[in-house]
Amino acid sequence: MNKINFTAGPSILPKEVFEQLGQAAVDYNGMGLSLLEITHRGPEFMAIIEEAQKLIKDLLKLPDNYEVLFLMGGATTQFAMVPYNLLPKDGVAGYLDTGTWSTKAVKAAKIYGEVDVCASSADDGFRHIPKEYRIDPEWTYFHVTSNNTISGTQFKTLPDMQGVPVVIDMSSDIFSEPLVEDVSKYGLIFASAQKNLGPAGTTVVIVDKNLLGKTGREIPDIWDYEKHIAKASVLNTPPVYAIYGCLLTLRWIKKMGLKKIGETNHKKAELLYGEIDNNPLFIPRVKAVEDRSIMNVTFDLARPELEKTFGVFCDNHGIVGVKGHRSVGGYRVSMYNAMPVEGVEKLVKVMRDFSWRFH
Ligand SMILES: *Cc1c(COP(=O)(O)O)cnc(C)c1O
Repeated sequence: MNKINFTAGPSILPKEVFEQLGQAAVDYNGMGLSLLEITHRGPEFMAIIEEAQKLIKDLLKLPDNYEVLFLMGGATTQFAMVPYNLLPKDGVAGYLDTGTWSTKAVKAAKIYGEVDVCASSADDGFRHIPKEYRIDPEWTYFHVTSNNTISGTQFKTLPDMQGVPVVIDMSSDIFSEPLVEDVSKYGLIFASAQKNLGPAGTTVVIVDKNLLGKTGREIPDIWDYEKHIAKASVLNTPPVYAIYGCLLTLRWIKKMGLKKIGETNHKKAELLYGEIDNNPLFIPRVKAVEDRSIMNVTFDLARPELEKTFGVFCDNHGIVGVKGHRSVGGYRVSMYNAMPVEGVEKLVKVMRDFSWRFH
């Protein structure tokens, strides 16, 4: 594995996680059985899920009123499950529309209650984070996407919430640095695994139990957070292998430390934005420096006729996954936790060499 992979997700994980996953598929912990063939109700898997839950609780310093679940259906399922479980029919939820993912969340929430889209950056293709909006203390919750994976913006600080719980989609930046805000401001955090947390197939949901059971609506067990909590995430067969991948990644995160991971991520972002800002061949998509994502960096070529050549040039240097999302084009470089600084240094060198050769 010597390619440098900047794909947006499913994406790179620490090398030791890939190796341990490989080993577990053949023989889990010397049991003489693959992890793929053991029951999810046995002590081996229960130990996996409990340790993963505990690591998340420790990393986020979660108070006791929070529960950690590993669910299926991706973050997209949470767009519906959140309002289904939290928003009463006559309730109103505030949504900040900062990108494709929040737009989808708004669409799903409208099925269950009233949605107040308090601000949107759709007008400029989601290239900034709106700052002028009002929090209504009557809202059941306020939904925000912390990192806009497609456009390359990141929501950095919460306004005065006046007691309104925040629901946050952290799919693409969970554990990328220590939490800036007090965790108690978040009523619910969700993140699909395949960006910073593990293999595709599971979604972490961290929820304040006190917010549940208030909609007056009947919910089928499989969509009901309270039922999942009662069954400790094994209401039905969970994605065993994906959850084990999360556990391995969480152990790695704990070993590195969130502070160190955050410093490294900022260093990588500085390196890449530095090149894009200073090299006239590259045009950053997000002009507002304070809104720039440290995870997904988006840019265009000043000379679009060179796109094909740039693609081949990257390929030839072992750099993959830098093409933008199919809905917006251009370039997107995803630098999740497992990407070392050296990978970004290599990319910057390739960009520089390319501009020398073709300017
Ligand atoms: C990837 C992503 C999603 C969608 O996740 P799925 O697991 O594919 O449903 C939602 N929100 C954000 C911020 C994402 O990056």
